[in-house]
Amino acid sequence: MDVPLYDGLGGQVALVTGATRGIGEQIATELADTGATVYAGARDPTDITATNQRAIELDVTEESEITAAVDRIDTEAGQLDILVNNAGVMDSRDSLDEMPTDSIERTLTTNLHGPITLTKYALPLLLDRSGSRVVNVSSGLGQITDAQSGDMPAYRISKTGLNGLTKYLHGEYHDNGLLANSVCPGYVQTDMTSGTAPRTPQEGAETPAWLARFKPAAPGGRFWRDKRPIDW
Ligand code: NAP
Repeated sequence: MDVPLYDGLGGQVALVTGATRGIGEQIATELADTGATVYAGARDPTDITATNQRAIELDVTEESEITAAVDRIDTEAGQLDILVNNAGVMDSRDSLDEMPTDSIERTLTTNLHGPITLTKYALPLLLDRSGSRVVNVSSGLGQITDAQSGDMPAYRISKTGLNGLTKYLHGEYHDNGLLANSVCPGYVQTDMTSGTAPRTPQEGAETPAWLARFKPAAPGGRFWRDKRPIDW
């Protein structure tokens, strides 16, 4: 799809959650290589080894770490152009009637409550500069175009909710210059999928990193896979 893109991200600041490994690590790498100042979110900042990124302590389930991270970016950089809500966990493969309650809670807290809370605190910085982007790393498992069934119910519902956050941000803040999009990276070989998936993390990061390069006239409020809109 032909979309206006920044060729380089020099002078722009990005925050990527869950940047220690898998798809998030690759998104952070791509954004840094494209010239952005990248804050690489990690529960343990020593897990960030890239020398051209700024490791930042950020467990998305801890409100105090969220506010401290946003405060640090404000103090050090004074701007935030790109927020990538990537951090996520996969729950057990049980159906809902068999799933432990704490597994439901952990999945929704990490995959849904975390991005909502982080975005809430990041919004003042994001809205300071017209054309800021929020990229929500969702999943086709959250699509509700057809009936939902099978395993990982909390994961599926968390991603449906994350897509709801994208639609809300678009509806409420697009007129203020915010571009919010959801993306499914495809089925990617990471710790989450135990190496059985066909795509590399680099391939999985391609469309999220592309969305992070959207210029203000590019579309928002959509769900993407392989650089094309897909159904919600
Ligand atoms: P992964 O390799 O398991 O990496 C997950 C990342 O999330 C790690 O950096 C992990 O940090 C971080 N994380 C987990 N809980 C966190 C928390 N409470 N606070 C902050 N960070 C936390 O998974 P992945 O496959 O790269 O997945 C990345 C995103 O893509 C997820 O949102 C996932 O749902 C989505 N996705 C993946 C696939 C796929 O096929 N892999 C498909 C569709 C969507 P630690 O190192 O500290 O644990």
